[in-house]
Amino acid sequence: MRPYLLLTPGPLTTSETVKEAMMSDWCTWDEEYNVGIVQRIRQELVQLAASRPDDYTAVLMQGSGTFCVEAALGTAVRPEDHLLIAANGAYGQRMGVIADYYHLKHTVLSFSETQPVDPEAVDRHLSEHPEVTHVAVVHCETTTGVLNPLERIARVVKRHGKVLIVDAMSSFGGVPLDMSALDIDFLISSANKCIQGVPGFGFVIARRSQLERCKGVARSLSLDLYDQWQVMEKGHGKWRFTSPTHVVRAFMQALHELQAEGGIAARHRRYCENHRVLVDGMRALGFRTLLPDEQQSPVITSFYYPADTFDFKAFYQGLKAKGFVIYPGKISQADTFRIGNIGDVHPADFVRLIQAVKELQAQ
Ligand SMILES: *Cc1c(COP(=O)(O)O)cnc(C)c1O
Repeated sequence: MRPYLLLTPGPLTTSETVKEAMMSDWCTWDEEYNVGIVQRIRQELVQLAASRPDDYTAVLMQGSGTFCVEAALGTAVRPEDHLLIAANGAYGQRMGVIADYYHLKHTVLSFSETQPVDPEAVDRHLSEHPEVTHVAVVHCETTTGVLNPLERIARVVKRHGKVLIVDAMSSFGGVPLDMSALDIDFLISSANKCIQGVPGFGFVIARRSQLERCKGVARSLSLDLYDQWQVMEKGHGKWRFTSPTHVVRAFMQALHELQAEGGIAARHRRYCENHRVLVDGMRALGFRTLLPDEQQSPVITSFYYPADTFDFKAFYQGLKAKGFVIYPGKISQADTFRIGNIGDVHPADFVRLIQAVKELQAQ
């Protein structure tokens, strides 16, 4: 069932048991599905995200991760509000595009793609612009793999008394984070990233008191996060429209497997070890990373092309033939490619990957 390992951060390599969980059909209005699966998933997500889970609620939403980012921004930011987006990559910039589509009052505070978001620059901006009501930031910018200093950013945003929205799409479940300690209001992620499920839905973990204030704000019916929440609460796990039942069942299995691994801390250790084997091995073969180690997440790593004559397509095809699929780069400033460390992939897989790269170099 695995022609190759996906070393791409979503969709990613899933376990056989996660795939097998999709082998039966589920009825969306039966309690076994609603109460037994959907409600348990919502509860577990909140417990994974926050040390004071009672303050928070989880809403699941059909679609890819971007649908959830759009649902969160479109439901939380009112016409009279002003959204500040601190962006250092494609996913931060995409939030700006969403804000454009929704005609939200907003400002994009842009940073270089090879630099983390600077909390002091956010602080200065907020001091000079009291009209800002909400701040949105990406935790791990998957564009490059940079890990933004979320704790310091959150402290600044909260000192200014703003609502904080975090795109933790590629980090939640794989990098420890406590919404309660950081006072985060909305956190967004999806099924096919560090929880290691398959694609088909995303979720928003929201502070109840904030979400309660969002009635009637959404400008999109299907992406109305408030209404989706209300129906899930009142219907005990019911989705408003057809839910991706097989994907949800696989996600439940993925959550069990996260727990069996030892939770987020243990998964984070495995990803860090994957990353270490990858980077040490690639450096020994002459490759250089785009980012310095202290800015690098264990989620995905960008490498420079080793030479101007480097043929990425041939490299990609060569690795694919040896059982590994990697990612092209996503920045314009430099020629890079990316290798993901998340999913049901282990240090031994990266040892084999390095061996495969070595063989390609020798050809
Ligand atoms: C994967 C990802 C998204 C969502 O992408 P989709 O293709 O819509 O699933 C958003 N933000 C970040 C940081 C991501 O890594």
